[in-house]
Amino acid sequence: MKTETNKSLLHLNTFGLDQVAARFITINDETELADALQIARDLELPVFILGGGSNILLTKDLDCLVLKINIKGIELIREDDKYVWIKVGAGEIWHEFVLHAIRNQWGGVENLSLIPGTVGASPMQNIGAYGAEIKDVFDHLESVALADGTRTLFFAQDCRFGYRDSIFKQEAKGKFVITRVIFRLNKFFNFNTSYGNIASTIQELGYTEPSLKAISDAVIFIRKQKLPDPTVIGNAGSFFKNPVVSVEKYERIKTAHPDVPGFPTTEGVKIPAAWLIERAGWKGKRLGPIGVHAMQPLVLVNYGGGKGVELLSLSKDITDDIKEKFDVQLETEVNIL
Ligand SMILES: Cc1cc2nc3c(=O)[nH]c(=O)nc-3n(C[C@H](O)[C@H](O)[C@H](O)COP(=O)(O)OP(=O)(O)OC[C@H]3O[C@@H](n4cnc5c(N)ncnc54)[C@H](O)[C@@H]3O)c2cc1C
Repeated sequence: MKTETNKSLLHLNTFGLDQVAARFITINDETELADALQIARDLELPVFILGGGSNILLTKDLDCLVLKINIKGIELIREDDKYVWIKVGAGEIWHEFVLHAIRNQWGGVENLSLIPGTVGASPMQNIGAYGAEIKDVFDHLESVALADGTRTLFFAQDCRFGYRDSIFKQEAKGKFVITRVIFRLNKFFNFNTSYGNIASTIQELGYTEPSLKAISDAVIFIRKQKLPDPTVIGNAGSFFKNPVVSVEKYERIKTAHPDVPGFPTTEGVKIPAAWLIERAGWKGKRLGPIGVHAMQPLVLVNYGGGKGVELLSLSKDITDDIKEKFDVQLETEVNIL
């Protein structure tokens, strides 16, 4: 286990922001993690846990110990007539795990194809896309407490999964390292093709009927058309969450903007943040090296050489403008550091 100092994070965050970690250790297993946490406690260093860096905005150098989680392994640990239980190392690349599941005919994660990042980060914001969320297939996770190194299991009810949310973004934020996640995947599937244009894309791709692979290929095809590839243009996917407003507020907005989309939820009405941002005139706006993506207004981009503080300032300007124009408060989905 090697401690690096003044490590550039340029290629370790998908925004491509050139910030530095004071100390940096790559963690390959639980023993290395225990040793690294001991070092942090001995030196009284704060710790930041890094996965694939696809959901963070670095606005400064990290004056702490960064632990890059690289714990690998995909293991079938149990099965019955209907399900398989798969234990996956936190450092596995999420999409590679999805492809592994599809090859083995395990259903439940195919709609979540091509989401960047690691398996260990997937419970953080209950990753979701195309009508699925990981809470639907989550069984439990193994974690280690930063404070004293104790191992703790979290079951689904402990995680308090919500829309792009979990206990790990709330009370437990920054307190646990997720080391392995155990998913319960299906041997028999209910194909979920009703969301967006998955069904028509499956046909367009030449499949005669849905399958795990057909759905995954359709989702990959659609995502590649809709979202900028972070290896080409720096971004962290959706920067903002879709706001949920009261029915009364939604009706008020609808009076002024009759075409505003709205999706009823148990808490109110969800309005696509992309619609608000586009209607407010931000879509495609460019400010030097940074901007709002021309096709997908939820995505802030770094065309190259941009700074995290500039992106943060742009996000605040957008948030203020949406508040002023629609009386709706946007919240960020990306973790700001
Ligand atoms: C092009 C693009 C498209 C995207 N599309 C989607 C989408 O459709 N749906 C969606 O939900 N998200 C999406 N995202 C966001 C992102 O892919 C997910 O949030 C992903 O789970 C982040 O994983 P990561 O490993 O990169 O996490 P990081 O960015 O490294 O970390 C994110 C947060 O999780 C913490 N963390 C990471 N690993 C661990 C661990 N092992 N233990 C404890 N804490 C940890 C970090 O400290 C940080 O707070 C997209 C991002 C991009 C760039």
